[in-house]
Formats: sequence, structure tokens, C-alpha cells
Amino acid sequence: MSYVITPPAVVSAPVHGGGEFPVRRIYCVGRNYAEHAQEMGFTGREPPFFFMKPGDALVPVKAGTTGEIHYPTLTSNYHHEIELVVAIGKGGTDIPASQAASHIWGYAVGLDMTRRDLQGEMKKQGRPWCIGKAFEDSAPMGEVHPISETGELTRGAITLTVNGVVKQKGDLNELIWNVNETIEVLSKAWALQPGDLIFTGTPAGVGAVVRGDVMEGAVAGLSGLRVVVR
Ligand code: MN
Repeated sequence: MSYVITPPAVVSAPVHGGGEFPVRRIYCVGRNYAEHAQEMGFTGREPPFFFMKPGDALVPVKAGTTGEIHYPTLTSNYHHEIELVVAIGKGGTDIPASQAASHIWGYAVGLDMTRRDLQGEMKKQGRPWCIGKAFEDSAPMGEVHPISETGELTRGAITLTVNGVVKQKGDLNELIWNVNETIEVLSKAWALQPGDLIFTGTPAGVGAVVRGDVMEGAVAGLSGLRVVVR
């Protein structure tokens, strides 16, 4: 093959214990914890809905190190959303919830960084959210832990601190649509492929960060994620 420009690099996330998980698409679930849905002005169990970030929005961060993300352009309300990330190892369509776990390669801690002011403006106008969600450095992510080591993650604390102060706190068992249900619904709309990531939604307490802030995300059983905003 003779490419006429240099092909883009493969994006990957570090695997706990060694190796790299190559990333294709990043799917994200909107409003998937009740209290966060409420803080965004919604109530009740609506069907899950999805948006995407480009794979190269990923900022891989090894355990024990501090990742760096750049404060993005065009915003003055840059929000953190701590999330459990599911890494897909086996593709498929129409995957029933009962089979979903067999498609999971592993789990990680991620941040769905959001230009909230731009997202809000797009919502108001009924336009796509891309400018609020899908931009450079908008998906910092920690080490992927194989499901063969963690087992299925269905409960456990999910937290985020900013400069040492707890801002978000929840439990995976509070997901409105759990991971298996999410995979079932997602795989009806898109053909999942190995390398896809799913950001599964954020608990209540989202808020703004500024340059210099240090975010530390944690999900019970997984390596933590430490990121500074530059
Ligand atoms: Mn989110």
C-alpha cells in the first residue's frame, strides 16, 4: 500500500500488567446515573442514548503517573465526568444482555471531559453535541484491567477528587442501564468491534476545572487515573 500521506498512529491504552489495548471507537452513554440525570434536569428511566468521541481523543495514563490534558478552546465551563470504561474484545451485533460479558475484554477508569457551555448551547438549539464532547484530550483513561482478573464489575465505589476534594461519588450498582444492558442496546444500533470503548456514564457531582487542577478518579478494583489540566 502506498499511502499518499502518513497514516495516523494507532491509539492505545495501557493494559494493567503489560501490553496495550488498541482503540477504535469511543462510545459514551448519556445520563446513566439517576442523580446526575436530575442535576442535568431530567427524571425517570429514559432509554439509553449514545454519543461518540473520536479514538484519538484518548489520553492514555499509566498507573502511578500523572496524565496531562490541555484546557480546550472555546469554553469557559470545562467539566469533569468520571466514568467506568468498558473495553470490547469481541465484536458483534444484537448482543443479548445475557451474552454481553463474553464480549468484554476489560475495564478502566476514564474521564468524559465536556465543554458544558457548548454542549448546553447545542442542546438548546437541537444541534449535535460534538463540539461539547468530541475534541482533543477529551477522553483521559487509565489502565485496562482484563475481565479475566477482575470478574464482571457490577458494584463498587466510583469517585473523583479535584485537588484532593471529593466532587463525584457513586456506586456502579446505581447505573440506570447496567453494562450488559448497555451493550445490548448499543449493539442493535452499531456493529461493535474489538477495540471499541464504552464510557458508561457519570454519577452526580459534575463540575468545572481550570488550568492547574489535578483530578484523581477511582473505581473499586481498578488502577486509579490521575490527570492535570494544563
Ligand atoms: Mn459522560
